Amino acid sequence: MRNIPLVDLQAQYLSIQEEIDESIARVIQRAAFILGEEGEAFEEAFATFCGTEHCVGVASGSAALHLALLGTGIGAGDEVITTPFTFAATAEAILQAGARPVFVDIDRATYNLDPSRLEAALTTRTRAIIPVHLYGQPAEMDSLQAVAKEHDLRVIGDAAQAHGAAYKGTPIGILGDAVCYSFYPSKNLGAYGDAGAVVTEDSDIARNVRRLRDHGRDQKHEHLEVGQGERLDELQAAILRVKLRHLDDWLEARERHARLYDKLLADSPVVCPYVAPEVRHVYHLYVIRTHQREALFTHLHEQHIGVGVHYPTPLHLQPAFARLGYAQGSFPEAEIAAREVLSLPMYAELEGPQIEGVAKALTEFFPPDT
Ligand SMILES: *Cc1c(COP(=O)(O)O)cnc(C)c1O
Repeated sequence: MRNIPLVDLQAQYLSIQEEIDESIARVIQRAAFILGEEGEAFEEAFATFCGTEHCVGVASGSAALHLALLGTGIGAGDEVITTPFTFAATAEAILQAGARPVFVDIDRATYNLDPSRLEAALTTRTRAIIPVHLYGQPAEMDSLQAVAKEHDLRVIGDAAQAHGAAYKGTPIGILGDAVCYSFYPSKNLGAYGDAGAVVTEDSDIARNVRRLRDHGRDQKHEHLEVGQGERLDELQAAILRVKLRHLDDWLEARERHARLYDKLLADSPVVCPYVAPEVRHVYHLYVIRTHQREALFTHLHEQHIGVGVHYPTPLHLQPAFARLGYAQGSFPEAEIAAREVLSLPMYAELEGPQIEGVAKALTEFFPPDT
């Protein structure tokens, strides 16, 4: 019997407790909670981390996507291409902006949007593409940006799972007109509540998002447009500033753990993550695939190993998106992946023996010579 969770936020807190407690106390003593110096300092630090000119802190990754779409002028009558194999927020943001999500199937090996299928999905209304850097692995940006350029489309990255990832040596934060991050607690960089950010090189988009997050105003009593209340709060910003200082170490630890899993599972019948040679995958999730997903899930769960499925139902088959008119069979690769993927425990504080424990429990499930 083992007890290894899928993520362990407590272990991380204990490793930085003093810094965190001090930063929280500082904000409370200052008694300024919304749009203040912590937020500004975090925005500057995160822009530097992403290699971008601007960062606008917002209330969640979902808000980042929604406001980035509005801030680039996407709205009613527009179509936005994305993957059906992602968290619901990606497609929700498109609908909330008044536009229509158009799904394109994924690549079997990387689980990311397959750029070779993009052209077939274009219409005269297509205005943007949202590549999702799923599990922490960058989407195939060169081919995707070539299509975007040829057809004058905006590219808005969903990097909610991919803080620190890079494509051909370039941080993914600068690959797109705007790139959106989530700091949901379990993400690679997680707040102690909801938080998110939009990064961009485009000062117009940055200004638009900054205004939209705060009720459409630049100044206190002048509302230039109808915006939202989607600001990053000072407590979360202070916590994120502390955690950002540790992020490089945490990402390296994730990569080390992934290599150990790769090695220990190499002879097992499961398919380990394929990593394209030109990318830095930051392993928000370590996802294997197997035809026996349900039985393996149950087996590991019974051994008290934290497993997850990201995601069991592709978005085109979710009731919320039924109105888009897709059906079973519309995106076969996403549908197969949804049946076969399994996420294993992955967080920076994992220890070698725990990874060995997971690998052992997994290999025990498969009888010899399967
Ligand atoms: C987490 C996530 C989001 C949403 O972020 P929240 O901060 O939870 O709103 C969007 N897209 C993807 C791919 C995610 O994993």
